[in-house]
Amino acid sequence: MKTYQIAALAGDGIGPEVMREAIQVLRATGEKCGFQLHITEAPVGWAGIDFARKALPDITLEICRKSDSILFGSVGLPDRDPTIPKEERPERAALLRLRKEFGLFANLRPVSLPKVLAHACPLARERQGDGIDILVVRELTGGMYFGQPKKTEDLGGGNLRAIDTMIYTTPEIERIAHVAFRAARLRRKKLTSIDKANVLENGILWREVVARVGKQYSDVALEHLFVDNAAMQLILKPTQFDVMLCENMFGDILSDEAAALGGSLGMLPSASLGVTNGGRTFGFYEPAGGTAPDIAGKNLANPIAQILSGALMLRHSFGLNEASAAIEGAVQRVIETGLRTGDIFNAAEAGARKVGTREMGAAIAAAI
Ligand code: NAD
Repeated sequence: MKTYQIAALAGDGIGPEVMREAIQVLRATGEKCGFQLHITEAPVGWAGIDFARKALPDITLEICRKSDSILFGSVGLPDRDPTIPKEERPERAALLRLRKEFGLFANLRPVSLPKVLAHACPLARERQGDGIDILVVRELTGGMYFGQPKKTEDLGGGNLRAIDTMIYTTPEIERIAHVAFRAARLRRKKLTSIDKANVLENGILWREVVARVGKQYSDVALEHLFVDNAAMQLILKPTQFDVMLCENMFGDILSDEAAALGGSLGMLPSASLGVTNGGRTFGFYEPAGGTAPDIAGKNLANPIAQILSGALMLRHSFGLNEASAAIEGAVQRVIETGLRTGDIFNAAEAGARKVGTREMGAAIAAAI
């Protein structure tokens, strides 16, 4: 039986509550589909600081290094100890450190709005078609967020000049393009590459390289869109998109715009991928939302984002496509039966029943 090592880092706030449900669902999936998961839980975030005075304790990092992938909850509690400096707080000392440590260069954010949750989407129903289903693939380690020089200069006379530099190389564009084309092959086989080739040198190179890589994926339909038009099309006709491929900053913005269409942060998983070795891709899987301190510890959090992050892990790190689809199918069926956590509940919806984190998780595990 195939065995996979997973580091489960629940973190803070609602993290432990939703992680518990995701682990339950993963175990049910392993039993059904015939694989074994060795899940090692470890502290991170404020839980790490409480445990070892470090947001990413050494033992946690060691467990991650020995694992095939990381299932992450979320970290950060804004109201905790303001004397702890920024660099030691969980968002930087744990999250950014892990991204760097494991060379996570590709960020995948699927947004899927089932038809029965049409009420949770801010768009008019006629724009939602048969349901919105988009995957935003964002380059995570290049572009303007990291390019040098990056500084603010004093021009004298009270004037400053801020400089950020947008840089992409051919290999950086090629590797993220391959991730996006491979993902499109597992979906509806359409890829929209986003750039600003009418203004930016980076955009011209981006378009050329993506088009060249695309020749290796003749089964995937490729189109190019300028980023400003893409932002508009997401609102006007989101159903035209399957996979959207973006550089770092454009992806940062468009993935949040797309997320708004999904109705609730509690429904949105994400994956950050590193390099592929021998058919296995190291990945970091987490909900798109944060620690939700306002509802933590109250059995109110929606565990679906965490559960679907587990599904992404099975697909993108281990190639267990059927098992991944089994989880997504179970979520869909449970939603169709009318179970709703508070974030997706609408009292006017016929047949909807409000449930807590535990009941939602148990129902999805039972539906596998
Ligand atoms: P948040 O995502 O935690 O919460 C925003 C809103 O969404 C809240 O009303 C919350 O209740 C709701 N929400 C989020 N997830 C939900 C779920 N699963 N079910 C139901 N409702 C849900 O964002 P915030 O309040 O801006 O941040 C809180 C803390 O989380 C901060 O410390 C922030 O730095 C941290 N954070 C961490 C990550 C991460 O670990 N990757 C990501 C974002 C924010």
